[in-house]
Amino acid sequence: RGAIAFRDVHFAYDGARPILKGISFEVPAGKTVAVVGPSGAGKSTLSRLLYRFYDVQRGSITIDGQDVRDVTQKSLRAVIGMVPQDTVLFNDTIAYNIRYGRVTASDAEVEVAAEAAQIADFIRGLPEGYLAMVGERGLKLSGGEKQRVAIARTILKAPPILILDEATSALDTKTEQEIQAALDIVSRNRTTLVIAHRLSTVINADEIIVLKDGVIAERGTHGELIERD
Ligand code: ADP
Ligand code: ADP
Repeated sequence: RGAIAFRDVHFAYDGARPILKGISFEVPAGKTVAVVGPSGAGKSTLSRLLYRFYDVQRGSITIDGQDVRDVTQKSLRAVIGMVPQDTVLFNDTIAYNIRYGRVTASDAEVEVAAEAAQIADFIRGLPEGYLAMVGERGLKLSGGEKQRVAIARTILKAPPILILDEATSALDTKTEQEIQAALDIVSRNRTTLVIAHRLSTVINADEIIVLKDGVIAERGTHGELIERD
């Protein structure tokens, strides 16, 4: 479950300048589709429309055939997990931050999620472990550590749909590769929409959509797009 369809999607933030001008593509259940393109092309706008931060002005977005405009934001958030570019953590414990999204999870489940996100060793090494406070009056985590906490949270929440919005773009190359490996595990068998800047980071996507100025300029697998260049 979790098949997404964008059909003839049009959108303008202020009603003036069109940002998306008739976008149609599908993310089949369990597959990964990447949207790449230059900055300002409208990539993140697509994910914001799917998550209903805004609503489409023409066309539709459906999940398993149901228009997202007929779904409450609360139920959307139950089926969609989002790993943003820069994770902002709550000024609370690491355990709280990982549990956010599924507060009933046991300590053992939190531990398993942290292992999968490759941050469990780091957390166990802290004097207060999972009860360490992060944020203003607590621990200052690096960008990579914060992304791992966000990934652990998403693993624990286990949503059928995943949005990865430039989730590794703010990191250095080595950290980016490690986080990418963790994300590859999370996205396996989930319907995944990846927003990326560069083609080289989405080699394994089932399809790549190249967005330029609010229209689909090209689409295909990584191999097909490289060949055409
Ligand atoms: P991308 O993710 O491809 O870099 P975005 O979808 O973030 O692009 O933005 C597409 C265009 O929409 C950009 O020109 C951007 O300036 C504009 N935009 C983004 N957010 C807003 C907003 N909240 N209000 C007005 N314009 C916006
Ligand atoms: P969800 O409940 O599905 O996680 P939200 O839209 O509430 O979705 O939040 C998306 C992500 O943004 C959360 O997973 C969390 O990481 C972060 N977030 C939301 N609100 C806050 C906040 N007030 N402080 C810190 N992070 C937040």
